[in-house]
Amino acid sequence: MSLAPLSFAAAAGTPAGGSTTRTVTGHLDTGAADFVYLPVEVPRGVREIAVSYSYDRPAVPAGTPGNSCDIGVFDERGTDLGGKGFRGWSGGFRTSFAISTDQATPGYLPGPVNAGTWHVVLGPYQVAPQGLDYQVEVTLTFGEDLPAFVPQYPPLRAAGRGRAWYRGDCHLHTVYSDGRRLPEEVAAGARAAGLDFMVTTDHNTSASHGVWGPLAGPDLLIITGEEVTTRNGHWLALGLHPGEWVDWRYRARDNAYPGFARQVHHSGGLVVPAHPYCPYVACQWKYGYQGADLVEVWNGPWTYDDESAVDAWDSHLAEDLRAGRPWLPAMGNSDAHSVPQVIGSPHNVVLADDLTRDAVLAALKAGRSWLAESAAVQLDLSATGQGRRAGIGERLAVAQDAPVDVSLTVAGVPNGTVRFLTDEGQLHQESLPASGAGTVVWRTTASLATYVRAEVRHPLADGTPGKGNTMGAALPWGPMAALTNPILLGGGDRD
Ligand SMILES: [Zn+2]
Ligand SMILES: [Zn+2]
Repeated sequence: MSLAPLSFAAAAGTPAGGSTTRTVTGHLDTGAADFVYLPVEVPRGVREIAVSYSYDRPAVPAGTPGNSCDIGVFDERGTDLGGKGFRGWSGGFRTSFAISTDQATPGYLPGPVNAGTWHVVLGPYQVAPQGLDYQVEVTLTFGEDLPAFVPQYPPLRAAGRGRAWYRGDCHLHTVYSDGRRLPEEVAAGARAAGLDFMVTTDHNTSASHGVWGPLAGPDLLIITGEEVTTRNGHWLALGLHPGEWVDWRYRARDNAYPGFARQVHHSGGLVVPAHPYCPYVACQWKYGYQGADLVEVWNGPWTYDDESAVDAWDSHLAEDLRAGRPWLPAMGNSDAHSVPQVIGSPHNVVLADDLTRDAVLAALKAGRSWLAESAAVQLDLSATGQGRRAGIGERLAVAQDAPVDVSLTVAGVPNGTVRFLTDEGQLHQESLPASGAGTVVWRTTASLATYVRAEVRHPLADGTPGKGNTMGAALPWGPMAALTNPILLGGGDRD
C-alpha cells in the first residue's frame, strides 16, 4: 500500500544549513496492509533526512490488541523485496530517526541522502477496532556531506585453542534494534558469562555490524547476523557477510522465505527458526523446517513454550532419521535485550575445529553441541560399543544388537535429574547429589534406540526431582539446566 507522495520540490535550493519540514496525517483501518509506504521526494543538496512519527492509542476491550506501529525507511534505490534501498528499521522502539553521511540513529545506515524518491515505511502490526491515526513528520536539512562513517567489522577469527569446546550465545539484541544495551555492554556481558563467541542478531537491520570491530578480541569471536522478524515467525540468520541485510517483509503464504534462506546459505550462514512456540503476536513459526539448519528450542529463561519446542524437535528427529534426511540440531540462546535478561543464559557449547566464524558455524550445523544454562554447567556425553566411541552429534556405527553404553558426566547442577531419551521417549532417569556432579551410565542397543540424547533438569519448586513417564496437571519437570544434541546409534552392520 502506497500513500500520496510528500514533495519537497519547493524546498530545492534551500541554502546550506537550512531545513524544511513536511507533516502528513492519516488513518489506517483494521486489516491495513502489513507495510504502508509513504513516498518522500528528496531534492538535491540534502545533508540529512530526519523522520518522527506518532499514532493514537484508543482504549480497547481486554483481550483485543491495541495500536502498535513500526517504522523504517528505504532510499532512492527503491523498496523491492531484498533490494538495495534498505536504509534502516527501528520497529516500534523509537519515535524518530535521522540519517546523514557521517552518522545515523542506531538501526539506520549512515550514507548520502541522495535525490530521488525515498519511502518511509509504516508497519501497523496491531490495529485497534477504531483504527489507527498516525502523523509522520519529515525534515530535510540542506548542506554539504560530512566525512563518511567508516564501518569497523569484527574479524572472522579469535585466538582459540584448536579443536575444542567453545561456548557462545547466538541471539543477542542491542540499542540497534529494541534492546537497551549498547554493543560494548553486550560484549562485556558475553565475556562476563564465560563465552568464547557471540552472534549479534538485531531485528531486521545490519546497522550494528560496523561497530563490533573494536569490541571483538583474541578472547571473543563476534559473528554478524540478524533476527529476521516476519509477521509469521522470527528466524536467525547467523554468519551474514558484514553489512549484509536479509528482508523480512513477507508472510508464510507469500513463499518468499525459501529465497531468503537460500541467500543466507549462499553467504555461508545458517538459518535458525527462533522461539517457534513463543506466544507473542507474530512470533510463532509458520514456515516449516525445510531449509532450516538448526532450531532454537530454548530461548531465554526456561518456560513452557520451550517444552513445546523440545517436544516438537524430538519428533522431527525420529522422522528425519527414518526418512534418511539430515536431522535438525537444537540450539539455545538468551535472546537478551536489556537488564535483567542474562547474556549467555542459555548458550551453546560447540566442538569446533577452531575459534573462527566458519568452524563455529560448521560445528553448530553438524549438531556437535549441547545447550547450557550457564558456564557453571559442564557436561560430557558419549556412547561406546564394539570398541568404538561417538560423541554428541556423531553416529556410533555398531551392529543392531551390540551392547552400547551411554555415559553422561555432568557438573554444576545440584540435585539435578539426568534423563536419557530416545525415539521411544525417556528410558532412564537418575538424580544427581547435592554437589551437582556425577556420572550416569546406561546400556542399550541400536535396535532399541535410533538415537539417544540427554537432559539435565533442576528439581521442581517443591524440591522433588520430577518423574518421567507420568501424567498430571502440572509440568513434570523443573527448568532445563542442560540439553544435548543426539548421538545416533546403528548402521554398523553395513560397514
Ligand atoms: Zn524474536
Ligand atoms: Zn530476539
